[in-house]
Amino acid sequence: MSSIGRYAPSPSGDLHIGNLRTAMLAWLSAHHDGGTLRLRIDDLDPRVSSVEHERQQRIDLELLGITFDGAELRQSDRSEHYQRTIDRLADDGLLYPCFCSRREIREAASAPHVHLPDGAYPGTCRTLSTAEQARRGEDRPAALRVRTHNVEISFSDRNYGDQREFVDDFVIQRNDGVPSYNLATVLDDAEQAITEVVRGADLLPGTARHVWLRNVLHLPHVDHAHVPLVMNSDGDRLAKRDGAVTLTDLAKLGISADAVRGRLAESLELAEHGETPSMHELLDRYDPGSIPLEPSVWGSV
Ligand code: GLU
Repeated sequence: MSSIGRYAPSPSGDLHIGNLRTAMLAWLSAHHDGGTLRLRIDDLDPRVSSVEHERQQRIDLELLGITFDGAELRQSDRSEHYQRTIDRLADDGLLYPCFCSRREIREAASAPHVHLPDGAYPGTCRTLSTAEQARRGEDRPAALRVRTHNVEISFSDRNYGDQREFVDDFVIQRNDGVPSYNLATVLDDAEQAITEVVRGADLLPGTARHVWLRNVLHLPHVDHAHVPLVMNSDGDRLAKRDGAVTLTDLAKLGISADAVRGRLAESLELAEHGETPSMHELLDRYDPGSIPLEPSVWGSV
């Protein structure tokens, strides 16, 4: 069966070289076995999303030759669907309100004798009585967390191999009412009938949450293939402050989208220096088993 992949940019800024490299890999992976790539607009959070960024992202993806098929999905259209699932999880007794601030979580997680992966929730609000919940709710609106019993989940990543991770009581609905990315991504992948998720390796930690939630909601399995990030010359994750890192910046320096695709292809060992192959030419050369797994470095241009 051929794959249905997706690329899911957040329209909160321009796509940089690292985002574009991931998009190329998602396209190649989906088309490699005759499948298709769908677009999802991750505009869940209205405060950081904008139609201008979305417009520019679409232009940049098209300039690079990244095409999409099938119906697009826009997270801001899906509030009712997310809410139905939140209600269902609540009816099943799986959710509890959490009043912790980020600082409280950090402090509780770093207390002596607490051994949790970075960023994991230490369970502070899991056992609050109804009276305590009411009292704390006077000071601060609650987020909703799901009871996972910190179960350990195993799954296999096509590039990074077998993974085992403890799943913490993660957020399902933020305390401003916005559904969490973890909930939305799992529901949206099912809605778009996605069979493979190709995305940046920064999202590998936490993927066990998605596997866990898919099981609980009886949603179909997806294959995961996380791909290495692009770093700056100091070895930090590439960011806007690293200079000319978007197609718009690079075009101003006289570097065309074709040339950028060529350089990214070279970083994937799919092109020689100076070559500018099209996406379809790259598809002929692409072998999913041999993408370089060490982070790629984008030197300043
Ligand atoms: N919207 C997310 C991002 O831009 C990607 C989410 C995903 O691929 O699951 O980082």
